[in-house]
Amino acid sequence: MSIKENLQIINDRIKSASIKCGRNESAVKLMAVSKFHPVDEILEACKNNQFLFGENRVQEAGEKFPQIYKQFPDTDLHIIGSLQTNKVKNAVKICSCIQSVDRFDLIKEIEKQCNKIDKVINILFELHTGEESKSGFTNDEQIIECLEYLIQNKVTTVNPIGFMTMAPFTDDEKLIRKSFISCRDTKDKIQKQFPEYKLDTLSMGMSGDFEIAIQEGSTLVRVGTAIFGERNYNK
Ligand SMILES: *Cc1c(COP(=O)(O)O)cnc(C)c1O
Repeated sequence: MSIKENLQIINDRIKSASIKCGRNESAVKLMAVSKFHPVDEILEACKNNQFLFGENRVQEAGEKFPQIYKQFPDTDLHIIGSLQTNKVKNAVKICSCIQSVDRFDLIKEIEKQCNKIDKVINILFELHTGEESKSGFTNDEQIIECLEYLIQNKVTTVNPIGFMTMAPFTDDEKLIRKSFISCRDTKDKIQKQFPEYKLDTLSMGMSGDFEIAIQEGSTLVRVGTAIFGERNYNK
């Protein structure tokens, strides 16, 4: 199957899953996760009206996306993989959003690097909701500490817009659902405490579980394999 056909199929599945659970057919955005896939495949997705992408590694994204931006200036890239502090400098240059904010120190570094280039970056707090994912915040207090820091210091270059999680890799639908529900509950709770921010992005769901994520309130699904095929990690 071609990238074009895959995009059509995934977009149709997102729409029908949304309608089925009573949500608007455009309530859920599709992110194409292009890690380990080459520039020509990303361009192929752009040609078929897919402009939102996710990459895990800053270096790889930095090599590929300048070429994409040249041909499709409206392309939007988010960093979704765990981020070392020393990679933040390059990350903020190439993306509009860092979805994998999993510790307080990272916020300070993002602020520092954004100030240098006078750029606003959106962030999502990554939540650890499934046993198999290693990264992510494990308690609300740490997230509250981050938000209080941003407010008290009047930070305008780091803009929190919601939450991201990865469900455990399992066939047990109950466990997957539990992970998404836990992310949504955290969002609802923290949003109530911080009305000054609009924390309405819920980045949940991948190739194997995005329909469950949509049922549980996802507003952004991150789909790689079902669009581009299997990743070749040896390249
Ligand atoms: C790789 C990756 C995805 C996409 O996974 P697929 O199963 O290929 O759809 C989504 N989110 C994150 C954080 C990833 O690292």
